[in-house]
Amino acid sequence: MSYLPEGLPSPHPTLDDAPFWQACQQQQLVIRHCESCHQFFHPPLPVCQKCGSSNLSWKPVSGHGTVYTYTIGHYAVHPSLKGQAPYNVSVVLLDDADDVRLVSNVVDAEPPLLAIGLPVTVCFEPASDGSLLPRFRRRAADTSSPQEGV
Ligand SMILES: [Zn+2]
Repeated sequence: MSYLPEGLPSPHPTLDDAPFWQACQQQQLVIRHCESCHQFFHPPLPVCQKCGSSNLSWKPVSGHGTVYTYTIGHYAVHPSLKGQAPYNVSVVLLDDADDVRLVSNVVDAEPPLLAIGLPVTVCFEPASDGSLLPRFRRRAADTSSPQEGV
């Protein structure tokens, strides 16, 4: 199964999400955090989606999460996906960022191994222009502490 379509468009950062993409280039995952209500949220916006505060920061997270849901694409719905099907698009619920879920791909699992609840951790892989994108790979369920391994 493919997960990384060749020629996938690279990110075009905006003022709101540029720090997210800049951190990815350092192989670090950061998530927007509200300093008023102490909640993480994503995608990043100029104000907190929960309380409206503009007192925001970026916080590094572990990159650990679980597959919240996924789908398998069987058709090339974009020219860049031609010849790449089937591929997965997975929604990952991060362990340490409230209810933040990232839409990404799991790079090393396919059904039935790829399943809801599968423990994963972030990894960074290049888009067509070399920009690093956050993707996820399997991890052992008991490695939620911030130590490297697996
Ligand atoms: Zn808030």
